[in-house]
Amino acid sequence: MPAITGKKYIERIDKLQANVWVDGKPVQGRISEHTAFKGILRSQAALYDLQHDTTVNHIMTYSSPITGEPVGMSYLQPKTKEDLVKRRKMTQQWAIASNGMMGRSPDYMNTVLMALASSSGFLKGKENCFPERLVAFYEYARENDLSLTHSFVNPQVNRAQFYFEDSDEPIAAKIVAKNEEGIIVKGARLLATRGGITDEIAVFSAGGIQDKANGFAFSIPSNQKGLKFISRESFVGGDSTFNYPLSSRYEEMDTIVVFDECLVPWERVFYYDNLPVSNTFATSSSFHPFSLHQAISRQIIKTEFILGVVQSIIDSINISDYLHVQEKASEIIIALETLKALVIKSEVEAKLDEWGFMRPDQRTLHVASNIFPKVYARFSEIIQQISASGIMSIPTENAFQSELKKDLDHYLQSKSDDAETRVKLFRLAWDLTMSAYGTREVQYERYFYGDPVRLSSQLYYTYDKEPFVKRVKDFIEID
Ligand SMILES: Cc1cc2nc3c(=O)[nH]c(=O)nc-3n(C[C@H](O)[C@H](O)[C@H](O)COP(=O)(O)OP(=O)(O)OC[C@H]3O[C@@H](n4cnc5c(N)ncnc54)[C@H](O)[C@@H]3O)c2cc1C
Repeated sequence: MPAITGKKYIERIDKLQANVWVDGKPVQGRISEHTAFKGILRSQAALYDLQHDTTVNHIMTYSSPITGEPVGMSYLQPKTKEDLVKRRKMTQQWAIASNGMMGRSPDYMNTVLMALASSSGFLKGKENCFPERLVAFYEYARENDLSLTHSFVNPQVNRAQFYFEDSDEPIAAKIVAKNEEGIIVKGARLLATRGGITDEIAVFSAGGIQDKANGFAFSIPSNQKGLKFISRESFVGGDSTFNYPLSSRYEEMDTIVVFDECLVPWERVFYYDNLPVSNTFATSSSFHPFSLHQAISRQIIKTEFILGVVQSIIDSINISDYLHVQEKASEIIIALETLKALVIKSEVEAKLDEWGFMRPDQRTLHVASNIFPKVYARFSEIIQQISASGIMSIPTENAFQSELKKDLDHYLQSKSDDAETRVKLFRLAWDLTMSAYGTREVQYERYFYGDPVRLSSQLYYTYDKEPFVKRVKDFIEID
């Protein structure tokens, strides 16, 4: 089945009946009707429907190289710089639908899978590596428009540099047995955003593996026997889009993933029992350049939305004359234009890699990925600072339908908005920065691409500083 519709996506996820737990209880019945998941499933379904919207389907899809049918553009393996532009436009079209609030719209993992499959040559001829299975799975995912979640991180038990787990029962997921059907995995991984509401979960080692039993790459259906998703509490405030404009629609949920002697069939094992590959595939493949290109493209749309919220607040209560307010809005403009410039620079400086795919410039995207976690936390602070008490003067939809309406209409009006419009705007500001959902968003943007401390250390080590050091040496040697 080529590019799917929203209806098809929801039917498929409901049918999975994955083992998902919320608040100590297993989800029963249709997950698409559960309070914690119905909003995000509906929002994601709307994304899939865009693939069939005749005004944008040329942006959202391309012709399958196998069948000629339309398949999702995020699966496109770019061979030219124009292909990179097509990929960016697709991601941004989807991002606009949620104003960038869906950090894990399916294009993120589609891109990751595309990148890994496009680097499958790296696995060729290496022990316990199966590049052909990775390519076959990528093609299967593309042709069936699968959605995926992923988990790259071991449980946070002991992060000392040379910690070696010493436990009879595995904590970090590891291979505990092999048989003719596949590998058996036991233990846990974190933190899979959207765990249980995607068709599949891809599990990869992202480096730092010391025991080869912890190093593997595979993908399995979300309802595989022995697989369990333990959700945190839901941050959906309620159904009302007036009260909870963001969490009612975009709460993606984060889950701990438990593998209880879970069988991964051989055709889905991409590598295992190979320490060097487990530790280097992520960095040697095109994972970083392609996934960052998708991530920054989405973050640009989110930054535009933040700027829109900030300017709406400024206009609403008429604070545009104050210099510090202008400076704060300018911080967002500077971040926005910087991110836009960096993504375009990464495309302009893209080069064909050894496997014939057009990689955006990784160094440039690494710079962008170091900027966003910091500025996003600052955006949240700016919204709180310019809103002041406004972000707390936010009566609910019911209050506006009660006898209080007359008071609220009078006392909560602002320079440019009637009371109801103004409260809706400030409730949005609150859900963006102060609700459980909003604070999770800050933590998400801070950590989703890894630890920001290590991201900047990585940039420092990989950036070629030598030419500039030489220039200084040459300069001080001049008489
Ligand atoms: C909302 C949210 C959603 C997420 N969704 C996903 C997902 O879907 N899939 C997925 O795979 N991951 C996901 N993650 C996990 C994310 O990848 C990790 O948070 C990130 O890689 C950091 O790892 P950690 O949380 O284990 O932090 P830790 O590595 O435990 O770090 C804790 C602290 O110790 C410091 N520290 C630890 N080790 C070192 C070191 N070697 N050098 C310097 N400092 C160190 C860190 O700087 C940090 O301050 C998500 C995270 C969040 C917050």
